[in-house]
Amino acid sequence: MISRIVKKINKAINHQVIVLMYHRVSELETDPWQLAVSPNNFEEQLQVLKESFKVISINELNQQMRSGKIKSDGVCITFDDGYRDNYRHARPLLEKYDCPATFFISASYIAKNRQFWWDELENIILHSEELPADLSINIGHRPYTFKLGDIILTHEIRQKHRYWNYLDPFPSQRCELYFQLWELIQPLLQNQIEQSIGELKKWASYTKPAKEEDLPMNKKELKEMFSSPLFTMGTHTLNHQLLPAHSKQIQQYEIVECRNWLEDWSGKKIDLISYPYGNYDINSLAVIKEENFRTAFTCEESLTTKKTNSTTIGRFQVKNQNGSEFKKQIKHWLKFN
Ligand SMILES: [Zn+2]
Repeated sequence: MISRIVKKINKAINHQVIVLMYHRVSELETDPWQLAVSPNNFEEQLQVLKESFKVISINELNQQMRSGKIKSDGVCITFDDGYRDNYRHARPLLEKYDCPATFFISASYIAKNRQFWWDELENIILHSEELPADLSINIGHRPYTFKLGDIILTHEIRQKHRYWNYLDPFPSQRCELYFQLWELIQPLLQNQIEQSIGELKKWASYTKPAKEEDLPMNKKELKEMFSSPLFTMGTHTLNHQLLPAHSKQIQQYEIVECRNWLEDWSGKKIDLISYPYGNYDINSLAVIKEENFRTAFTCEESLTTKKTNSTTIGRFQVKNQNGSEFKKQIKHWLKFN
């Protein structure tokens, strides 16, 4: 009887922290991976977090985990990739509501001021006004062919693309092509990724420059961002590589080079990492242990408790929801995890 009461009380207190994962704070024409939250919705979400939860930094989470005392109602905010809209739209709102946040950065994209490959692929396949009917290329030495019916991007197809995400059936052949190419390109080495994207651009005669806001932050923005005590930086590997697709040596290079680059210009110690695409293997875990990373984040939807392993902390991807939808979503996550 007593143990039942204790259990009930423990459940009510909820000694668990929920780590949220964001990518973009922006309005996008298409968003196959549901990465973007509009600035309005982001503000409403922060209001919900401030009213009903305790927004804590990753540092605070680490301290709680180390002491074995996880406080109730804690929420951590994290961002992956390092998009410019984080600086333009998320930063002022996080400051307005005094919310700490951690940003995981892929250094080479910032150093090269280059658009992320999946966004380039989306632009080529989903946004080109016209595409050739036959595609025949090598992707990482593998021949790939596709016969395209939706050559012209009609108003109707454009509308279908607006609401499509990867969980839905393909509303057009272009979506099918996009998804197949994404799956083939994702495990490649960075130079092969760049080569494949280059060949696809040639095939599509795609010459539009990237929109300013779709690029990653530049160094100046990154510097300004991390001069604020509210924000913490972590690595997201040098080239945003799918770690388990590569050898331990490559994983080590990707993780360490990114950390060194970030540490060199910021003068700060970087010991946080989020695995690109949330994926890791035994070699990734070995590298982060050898390199003394303190905390590592996945995309597995799990709450953080005192039993959570600090090298595989789960996160919940936030969707483009308004305040009340978001509040319901968090309550659902807390109840069913
Ligand atoms: Zn990422």
